[in-house]
This record gives sequence, C-alpha cells and structure tokens, in this order.
Amino acid sequence: MSYIVADNLVKKYGDGETAVSAVDDISFQIQEREFVGIMGESGAGKSTLLGMMGAMNAPTSGRLIVDDIDVYGLNQEQRADFRREFLGFVFQSFHLVPYLTVIENVMLPLTVVKTKKKKKRSMAEDSLAQVGLLGKAYRLPSQISGGEKERVAIARAIVNEPPVLLADEPTGNLDTKTSQEIMQLLRRLNGEGMTIIMVTHSPECAGYALRIMQVTDGKLVEDSSKIRSIEKWPKKEIESETLRNQKRMQVAGSLHTG
Ligand code: ADP
Repeated sequence: MSYIVADNLVKKYGDGETAVSAVDDISFQIQEREFVGIMGESGAGKSTLLGMMGAMNAPTSGRLIVDDIDVYGLNQEQRADFRREFLGFVFQSFHLVPYLTVIENVMLPLTVVKTKKKKKRSMAEDSLAQVGLLGKAYRLPSQISGGEKERVAIARAIVNEPPVLLADEPTGNLDTKTSQEIMQLLRRLNGEGMTIIMVTHSPECAGYALRIMQVTDGKLVEDSSKIRSIEKWPKKEIESETLRNQKRMQVAGSLHTG
C-alpha cells in the first residue's frame, strides 16, 4: 500500500448550472520520501487539491488515505490531531506573527503539544538550525529578509518533525536566487526523509521536484511518476533529472504564455 492514496477525489463548489468541479476525479499514489511538484494554470484546482491533501477541505466524493488512515473518515477533532501529527504547511505569504520573535513563531505549533517549555525551545532551536537561522532566533520578522521569513516558515512547519510537508507556492514572493536557496533547502529536507508535495507556478521550482503532476481543469493530465526517493539517486542523476524537469517545464511554460 502506498503512503498516500488519493482515490477518485472530487470537489464541487455550488450546484446546478453554476457548479464548478474544482477537482474532477483525481487519483494518484505517493510513496514515502517522494518530492512531488503540482503544476497548473491559475484556477486549475491546485490549491483545492492541496487543501484536500492537507485535511482541510473535505472532498465531495472520493477518499484520501495517508499511512492507512482514511483522513475524511476521521471526526473533526481526530482530523486536527492528524494534521498536527502528520503535516507541516508552508505558504507563499509567510503568516509569521509580527510581534513574536523568530523562535516564538517557530514554537507556535507546539503550543498544544504537552511537553516542557525547555524541550519546546530546544525543538525550535533544532528546527532553526536546520534552516540556518539559529543566529537570528531573537529577531522580529520585520528584522529579517523575505527569504529568511520563508525559512522561518519552513522551520515552523517542520518543528514537529511531520512526515509530510505541504507547500503552496513557497517561493512566490522571492527573487530567483533566494527561491533557489529555498528549493535547495526543501530538497535537503526531502533527502533527510520528508515527503514533500509542493504547488508551484514556477518551472524552475518544479524542476527541483522529482515527480511532476500537471493539473488542468481539475484533472490530472500528466504525472511523471518517478516513484523513487532521493537518497537512492546518484548525485549526477539528480542533477540531470533536475535539468530535464526544468527544461520540460520551461517548454510547457512557453507554450502556455505564447
Ligand atoms: P488554483 O489553485 O489552481 O489556482 P483553485 O483550486 O484555487 O485553483 O480553484 C479551482 C476552481 O475552483 C476555480 O474555478 C475556482 O474559482 C473554484 N473555487 C475554488 N475555491 C472555491 C470556493 N471556495 N467556492 C467556489 N469556487 C471555488
């Protein structure tokens, strides 16, 4: 059994003539430690799909199974526990609390976790060290750069060490160089064992994923299905696959805009 199974997922908004099928019968399987990029034009259904994967948006029909758990078969409270236990979220707009320091922001998801404050602080420090920001732990969000804010958001998403990281346009607000650094960070986390599912518009970012799903009009129209985890890849192959993906996505991008 695969780690994540999306089974005929459908999400309809509204009814009758005005009904929209935001996600229209999508099925796929994801193995542990995959790095999946979901691409598609605006309105294609990517965010709806990611929301469903994030246990935040119940499908109209179909099932989502994660680690043998039928996510939408859980009640609300169980689903909140599931989210906390299994998922980290990274968004385009960092959602940092401006009056909390960097480390306090990273500790936020631990508020509901029953652990000593000291332990929580050391978990947050570990997490900040992972993203290379331990030295800025006591700054406020206004005192760090955009790329650093995104790294804090990632540190916060991984502080609980969730097995799955969901990212929605994680580099949407960043310049090219900073975007590359963020993608390399995600790549490293993936290499260390995290399963990553990332929605992105950017062909360059998608190139870092090891598997690309293309969504059009709520349907999964392409799936590169490279079901292999990064640590089994020789370094050279990772580099050439990244280049291949980037090229392919650039071609796809130029087709759409041209
Ligand atoms: P994407 O993330 O690819 O831009 P979305 O998942 O946001 O696409 O949207 C897919 C379709 O569903 C769009 O036509 C959008 O207008 C519609 N949609 C998304 N959310 C809602 C909602 N809450 N109510 C009604 N329609 C929605």
